[in-house]
Amino acid sequence: MNGKIGKRRSIKGMIGTERYLSTRFVMLVDRCLRYALPGRCAFCLGAAMEGAPWCRQCLDELPWNRTACSRCAEPFSGPAGEPIKSCGACLREPPSFVRARVPLCYSDPVAAQVQRFKFSASPRAGAILLSLLQGALTTGGDVLPEALVAVPLHEQRARERGFDQADWLGSRLAQRLGMRYIKARRLRSTPTQRGLSREQRRANLKSAFVIDTSLPASVAILDDVMTTGATLDALGQACLEAGADHVEAWAVARTPMH
Ligand SMILES: [Zn+2]
Ligand SMILES: [Zn+2]
Repeated sequence: MNGKIGKRRSIKGMIGTERYLSTRFVMLVDRCLRYALPGRCAFCLGAAMEGAPWCRQCLDELPWNRTACSRCAEPFSGPAGEPIKSCGACLREPPSFVRARVPLCYSDPVAAQVQRFKFSASPRAGAILLSLLQGALTTGGDVLPEALVAVPLHEQRARERGFDQADWLGSRLAQRLGMRYIKARRLRSTPTQRGLSREQRRANLKSAFVIDTSLPASVAILDDVMTTGATLDALGQACLEAGADHVEAWAVARTPMH
């Protein structure tokens, strides 16, 4: 019996190692490509702007999330203009964070970069997403929170994938912005949140995260993509329980809920 379990474990371990090695390989190839294409726009391969990985036209044409709820970043259709203070959902059930800064919508070519980053561990795609987010967060002169907490993958999931994308983004972003980077722990894997009400999602994710250190008053939480906002809401709740009193949610791109 014990021997069987041991065998099963070792096969599982081998699959994990293979996945890890193939992830490392993709990262290596990607790194080579990055240096093979200096001065080229990441989206159209035309000439890039000086000091940037994109050209002016591609940057302008990205799916910017300009008309959105300032609390949850839910995009609204219609002409770009002033951000809407709170959408109906936020008025009915306010999330744990007081504002959301999500500069882009989750559609191509941003979605393609996110997929490359998330599933192939592409550092070139990661660097592009990181620069887009950093640029958006630092324009406008807002005072930045003191610390950054990224949504953690469940340990087993991180081991299987060999790569934790929010941690990759978070540690680099915190360093670039001069913020403290604080790790949270995910206590359990959580199923998909689609199709549930905000209250149901909140119940589903209750106590999913814990932060083992006491937080400064003002904190930003980060995920690569914000979908329903439920995961960030749960992490924000853990931040409030760990001593923060102002939490804002950051992500690169927003998937519309409706
Ligand atoms: Zn371009
Ligand atoms: Zn909202």
